[in-house]
Amino acid sequence: MIVSDRQTLAEDVRAGKRRALAKAITLVESTRADHREQARALVEALLPDTGKALRVGLSGVPGVGKSTFVEALGLYLIEQGHRVAVLAVDPSSSVHGGSILGDKTRMELLSRRTEAFIRPSPSSGALGGVAHRTREAMLVCEAAGFDVVLVETVGVGQSEIAVAGMTDIFCLLQLPNAGDDLQGMKKGIVEIADLVAINKADIDKAATHRAQAQMQGAISMVRHAHPDWTPPVIPVSALKAEGIDVFWNTVLKFRETMVANGAFAARRRRQAGAWMWELIDHDLRARFRANVRVAEELPGLQAEVEQGQVTPAAAAARLLGHLDNI
Ligand code: GDP
Repeated sequence: MIVSDRQTLAEDVRAGKRRALAKAITLVESTRADHREQARALVEALLPDTGKALRVGLSGVPGVGKSTFVEALGLYLIEQGHRVAVLAVDPSSSVHGGSILGDKTRMELLSRRTEAFIRPSPSSGALGGVAHRTREAMLVCEAAGFDVVLVETVGVGQSEIAVAGMTDIFCLLQLPNAGDDLQGMKKGIVEIADLVAINKADIDKAATHRAQAQMQGAISMVRHAHPDWTPPVIPVSALKAEGIDVFWNTVLKFRETMVANGAFAARRRRQAGAWMWELIDHDLRARFRANVRVAEELPGLQAEVEQGQVTPAAAAARLLGHLDNI
């Protein structure tokens, strides 16, 4: 793409033209080296127009009601005058062939609205690459005027950490019949949740109350990142669109609290720095593996390390020595 085309694309994205937005996101999702370069330049051009959206991460096990919830929340937000972008991080989608997260067919009403933009997870590569492309897509959506960005992911561990690392607030959806094991949830996920919603509260009120109390108990045992905030647990019904307003008001309350104590801006600063380091790490590793002498020596050295003939430290030092002029 020549420079003037890119400028036009950036202008069209800023003007909120849908086709330009889709084209820009296709570009940032591409893994082709020339596209990566163009995407970098495009995102840089758009940078001054980014950062104004509220970035909301959302996670939960399959079947908890994520897409139903995103649709209900999205429609509610549109009613409130917002424009909503829905993105997804699903590194497993390349394995299972096709992403289910952020799938438009799962959010039929929302996908018909011009105030909404729904994009499934980029479907190739490891978590790092998928998360990077979603971050760039988020910036493009912000430049296009979407003032709320919802990023959903399945509740399977690492991808939640990645989504919490790119959003202002990380929300966890839970089912009422949590059971004693808290749905196999790891302590780490409770630690990063800023807000928990117990979905399907319409099915069984008593079970929802129990789950609420249980979750609140689990939260009280871990230390949240912010002393000013104890993550609330609220019942919702995505299907009946109940509790969506309470959920959103809690999100806004969180923002208000975090803006006031400076944690909101600090979190974004930390995220930007961490993103840069992730890219540096990723690129260095790629260069390392692409180095001819490394490629020659690596298999043999690794075997020697595994057989205990060379220490890992000595092998690492020798291989890294080839990178002196990267
Ligand atoms: P996801 O896999 O987390 O995206 O879950 P879905 O949104 O696809 O929902 C899974 C199933 O739960 C669907 O059959 C939904 O209709 C149903 N569901 C979602 N939210 C609710 C709710 O609040 N109440 C009830 N009763 N069913 C719900």
